[in-house]
Amino acid sequence: MQNKISYEVERRRTFAIISHPDAGKTTLTEKLLLYGGAIRLAGSVKARKANKYATSDWMEIEKQRGISVTSSVLQFEYNNYCINILDTPGHQDFSEDTYRTLMAADSAVMLIDGAKGVEEQTIKLFHVCKMRGIPIFTFVNKMDRASKDPFELMEELENVLGIRSYPMNWPIGTDGDFKGVYNRKLSQIELFEGGNHGQTVVSSIKGSVDDKIFADLLGDHYHKKLCEDIELLDMAGDPFDKEKILKGELTPMFFGSAMTNFGVQPFLEEFLQLAPKPGIKMSSEGEVDPESDKFTGFVFKIQANMNPAHRDRIAFIRICSGRFTRGMTVYHVQQGKEVRLSQPQQFMAQERTIVEEAYAGDIIGVFDPGIFHIGDTLSEGNSNLRFEGIPIFPAEHFAKVTPVDTMKRKQFIKGINQLSEEGTIQVFKQIDIGFESIIVGVVGILQLEVLEYRLKHEYGVDLRIQKLPHRHARWIVSSDTEPRNLTLTSTTMIVHDQDERYVLLFENEWSIRWAEEKNPSLKLEDIAKRDL
Ligand code: GDP
Repeated sequence: MQNKISYEVERRRTFAIISHPDAGKTTLTEKLLLYGGAIRLAGSVKARKANKYATSDWMEIEKQRGISVTSSVLQFEYNNYCINILDTPGHQDFSEDTYRTLMAADSAVMLIDGAKGVEEQTIKLFHVCKMRGIPIFTFVNKMDRASKDPFELMEELENVLGIRSYPMNWPIGTDGDFKGVYNRKLSQIELFEGGNHGQTVVSSIKGSVDDKIFADLLGDHYHKKLCEDIELLDMAGDPFDKEKILKGELTPMFFGSAMTNFGVQPFLEEFLQLAPKPGIKMSSEGEVDPESDKFTGFVFKIQANMNPAHRDRIAFIRICSGRFTRGMTVYHVQQGKEVRLSQPQQFMAQERTIVEEAYAGDIIGVFDPGIFHIGDTLSEGNSNLRFEGIPIFPAEHFAKVTPVDTMKRKQFIKGINQLSEEGTIQVFKQIDIGFESIIVGVVGILQLEVLEYRLKHEYGVDLRIQKLPHRHARWIVSSDTEPRNLTLTSTTMIVHDQDERYVLLFENEWSIRWAEEKNPSLKLEDIAKRDL
């Protein structure tokens, strides 16, 4: 059994694709699935995308369909690797779940539109990956069209994200005249033009870019530019350093085009070799080895059914060690009792299948009768083992909420607490003001609608929601001054989080900087870590 577990862990790669909407994530995912032989399923990625419905429809659809599978995990096999792609929802669905999903990934693929460079949503998601220290692989997409200068893109990664890059290949022709890429490792040119999109490969005989065979192939103009670029990269660029890559300090950069399927397969193969298998994870009981024979895992996401008639939920569990088998009984640390993991499901594109067995790196969804919370640890054999809790991520929208009917205060509090425990909302309490002032924080505005809907349908409470102009929450990590005595702008609010920690709510970046300048001892943090 031990050998079997090691074998399964060794071949697993679990990652998320982070990108800004429209960079081509759906297209890339589809192409990756194709290589995995999941041709039949590939179409369904697109079908799902076509379902980008308005919020109100979404509620209806959730009701009709039962549990939504809008964000899930795609598993497929390629070259004997078992690959799990964690789906991170885009635009309208962007919520705290999107961040939490990254807690279950061992690496990330950062997809960038070559013409647009680093965009807003990518920055946010990158930040979380960076905090976790996971390796980040960059795929610069849409190279079949005019793009930014590749050196400029490297600079952008460094200046905007603070990460240095190592181009694994280099584009030839970036003004809408894309010829292909030069593969630095293999000293070969993979042709886009007239070459069946990368199928034609021309290698250097002397093992260098400065080869007459390339001049003949590209013409002097393109060849000269390529030689200059590569010389500059070799001289002034960072050297390839696998250790730095694995620590998330250097990102291997690939240029390609998902739509035309150019550079996707070489990327996938290189990625599978470089990306880490599921690693050792810290717990309250020390390191947990993914190859240990005892099952452990943690809940990183809970998807509640919106239909009041079927109030079931699915808890998504990332397996960290051991072997999962259907119907097994595990110890639920936070509840302090054994639970049976019934109806385990795995998600293949849109289809759900019952899982018989799974290993570290895999994600399973289990039926949740209301006992699981985000961050819960499940383990076989060790009732004390706890994994680090899932952090609270930076909310961007805040609102004061009160029940319309003050007689419903009790149900209101119950519902708010329940949804906060589930991780649907973050709850803050304004200090110095009476019991009425509950402030909820959400990452995506959709979460507020879910709150309103569920309080009405599950707790019979109509909500009064007063949106606040605040956009940033910062936890006070340390300060010599009593929080109430801090020098702050008049609009900055001082609140408590659920654990009675002090949090400042700011309207804009400027007022954060102001607070930091006026109170030199004040240290703020935008992602709140949770204890083991
Ligand atoms: P997502 O929002 O990140 O999932 O992006 P999609 O995969 O839906 O792609 C957004 C748009 O970009 C679609 O119209 C795609 O056809 C297009 N697209 C994706 N990849 C490429 C590419 O490599 N080249 C070009 N020219 N267009 C692309």
